[in-house]
Amino acid sequence: MTKFKLEYIWLDGYTPTPNLRGKTQIKEYDSFPTFEQLPLWGFDGSSTQQAEGSSSDCVLKPVRHFPDPARTNGVLVLCEVMMPDGKTPHPSNKRATVLDDAGAWFGFEQEYFLYKNGRPLGFPETGYPAPQGPYYCGVGASNVGPVARKIVEEHLDLCLAAGINHEGINAEVAKGQWEFQIFGKGSKKAADEMWMARYLLQRLCETYEIDIEYHCKPLGDTDWNGSGMHCNFSTTFMRETGGKEYFEAVMASFEKNLDDHIAVYGPDNHMRLTGKHETAPWNKFSYGVADRGASVRVPHSFVNNGYKGYLEDRRPNSMGDPYQIASQVLKTISEVPLPGEAAQKAVA
Ligand code: ADP
Ligand code: MN
Ligand code: MN
Ligand code: MN
Repeated sequence: MTKFKLEYIWLDGYTPTPNLRGKTQIKEYDSFPTFEQLPLWGFDGSSTQQAEGSSSDCVLKPVRHFPDPARTNGVLVLCEVMMPDGKTPHPSNKRATVLDDAGAWFGFEQEYFLYKNGRPLGFPETGYPAPQGPYYCGVGASNVGPVARKIVEEHLDLCLAAGINHEGINAEVAKGQWEFQIFGKGSKKAADEMWMARYLLQRLCETYEIDIEYHCKPLGDTDWNGSGMHCNFSTTFMRETGGKEYFEAVMASFEKNLDDHIAVYGPDNHMRLTGKHETAPWNKFSYGVADRGASVRVPHSFVNNGYKGYLEDRRPNSMGDPYQIASQVLKTISEVPLPGEAAQKAVA
């Protein structure tokens, strides 16, 4: 038997966006545990805004597990928070109710700032560094500094070793700002892996005394970019059949559901979606081919393939909850009848 370190990880009850929490328990197994071997566990919900002190027990229900590459015999156990009965999802547990479909693919582009001593990494103690321009996909110490690349590379290796579908890295437009991409088939799978990737990044940065700033406009109303989490999406129908008419109906559904999208696309998005810095105004829906100033960017390849493929919703922000973002995208798409279905209904 080997003693394994199980890190149970969950989302707390803070609003508008939850924080990651985690705690360790040791269990003995013959070899790396199967999912079924992971027990339920509990925590004190009164310390995470998930319960009153008088009745504080909440239950952690494992939903995914991954090897923990940073620990000997480590297991990362992603959990949903349940009520004391172990069966009813806690009100803060959004994952329990998301719309899911293995044919719906999501690629999230997580942008964020590395922060040291309350300022973006590489910013001088007072004032600002040279304006934006050389930092995006930049190379060299004066552009990305001596530490950032080490962190993002280590994070990439941790994600890959854990089996998380990390797809790439780039230095972003502002100094100290970076991006990584996570792709998954199914809303839960993609969002689970995004939350785990966020966890691994934050934990890794502890040793560097660096924080991850996820706010969508940490430098306020300045000429410094904010952070998004663009959501690239496609359904089986979009990839295999598509067509201009269907695409236009989907876009009309996005326009109709504007408020529901903005409600789950992350807090303070009005600060970021101003119409400047490659954003569309938050309160007006738009789409355009290769248009990075639109709410939804339509890739050239989509049009060239007969309106087939994936689309990019550029509005979700860096602090958004990928469960709720993916679920809303699916809900809006599902309100559009598939042309085959529509035709059948007309005949019936
Ligand atoms: P950009 O910075 O140009 O907007 P990125 O390369 O950072 O684009 O991100 C593109 C994302 O689109 C990736 O996460 C990728 O996985 C995702 N993607 C590619 N094809 C599909 C698809 N068919 N369905 C959903 N997402 C996709
Ligand atoms: Mn990108
Ligand atoms: Mn980007
Ligand atoms: Mn993008």
